Amino acid sequence: MAVIIKSPAEIEAMKEAGRVSAKVLRMLGDLIEPGISTLELDHQAEAIIRMEGGRPAFKGYFGFPGSICASINDTIVHGIPSKDIILQEGDIISIDTGAIIDGWVGDNAYTYLCGEVDPDVAKLCKVTEESMWAGISKAVPEGRLGDIGHAVQSIAEAAGFKVVREYVGHGVGRNMHEDPNVPNYGKAGKGLRLVEGMVIAIEPMVNMKSHKTKRMKDGWTVKTVDGLPSAHYEKTVAITADGPLILTQE
Ligand code: MG
Repeated sequence: MAVIIKSPAEIEAMKEAGRVSAKVLRMLGDLIEPGISTLELDHQAEAIIRMEGGRPAFKGYFGFPGSICASINDTIVHGIPSKDIILQEGDIISIDTGAIIDGWVGDNAYTYLCGEVDPDVAKLCKVTEESMWAGISKAVPEGRLGDIGHAVQSIAEAAGFKVVREYVGHGVGRNMHEDPNVPNYGKAGKGLRLVEGMVIAIEPMVNMKSHKTKRMKDGWTVKTVDGLPSAHYEKTVAITADGPLILTQE
């Protein structure tokens, strides 16, 4: 599949899906507290998305049951919402969610801290978010895909952390996952040339110690092999003549 370039009008149209995706992610953040289940967060997410006239982008995607991916501590991504998974003081939770509006998809994620979190784990989150912003800053015309991955990887590894290899960012449009793949590692100046009209999700997944992952028997949940925490942040970004334009914002 080739990269699908969006016109300025199409990028404008994508802003509404992005706005709702950002709104639901922010509102879920207000609900993070010990005792809440990830299924409750999922129900709230779907309600907010539908109230805004959207459809949950994740629900039914290759059979995924939820409107969010809820990934706690050593779960990297794709955690299935469950009434039996209850947030505890000191947990971190990556919530990944998106809305479809007028056929366009928004996709974003944030790792929330539940109460008082171990300082090393809090640092992992802070660094991962910084690495995302570093990657976003490279989403400019005439740049290369490798510039983004290199920027993310440099920030994460300078802090002693490791970036996940098996799961990567992606193009976004009328489909949640389009070309190109957007790795969180790479060489500056290498890879696909970035051009105006590309829309990509930049989403570093950063592990405390080992970058290695394992997938659980449910077919979705991805965890760190060493059982240590992982953080995950994501925004949908359009590459424009004026620079990176964050679409998942209110
Ligand atoms: Mg994504």
